[in-house]
Amino acid sequence: MPKFLDAVKGFGVTFGTMFKRPITEEYPEKPGPVAPRYHGRHQLNRYADGLEKCIGCELCAWACPADAIYVEGADNTEDQRFSPGERYGQVYQINYLRCIGCGLCIEACPTRALTMTNVYEMADDNRSDLIYGKDKLLAPLQPGMQSPPHAMEPGTTDDDYYLGRITGGKEVAG
Ligand code: SF4
Ligand code: SF4
Repeated sequence: MPKFLDAVKGFGVTFGTMFKRPITEEYPEKPGPVAPRYHGRHQLNRYADGLEKCIGCELCAWACPADAIYVEGADNTEDQRFSPGERYGQVYQINYLRCIGCGLCIEACPTRALTMTNVYEMADDNRSDLIYGKDKLLAPLQPGMQSPPHAMEPGTTDDDYYLGRITGGKEVAG
């Protein structure tokens, strides 16, 4: 085949593409939709009265293949209660320089304290701001919730919390 026909053949792809509908995403002005179960930024959930679901057990950290989670648990006291039961997550950090979004951590969590949101805009210009602590990961307080530390609802046990019997505020999705 003559060489000039090769060139014409190559332009066929160009011409074919020119008349297709553009699929350009107008990001960041108009962020595109993500799948409902997209693995985005994590969230540490609360019970309906505002107490934290995390019990500081570190199972999420052990499950993480990228060693991206750091947890330090501590004891609750009757004066300083952050979660129902004995322990809470005093320090909780996720290093998003390491996280690969696999979701193994949320599968390992026994209290559904840890879930993942659809939020994916986490770019930054330095390393330290990509290590998220409780200040960024804790779910915001909803109407009816009280910021910990505070006592459990009167007459309830930690079992009532784990079994979803606590009402009052609006339960945070988890
Ligand atoms: S999503 Fe995967 S990589 Fe990221 S913190 Fe969880 S277990 Fe680790
Ligand atoms: S998020 Fe879940 S698995 Fe991780 S320390 Fe808290 S309770 Fe344990």
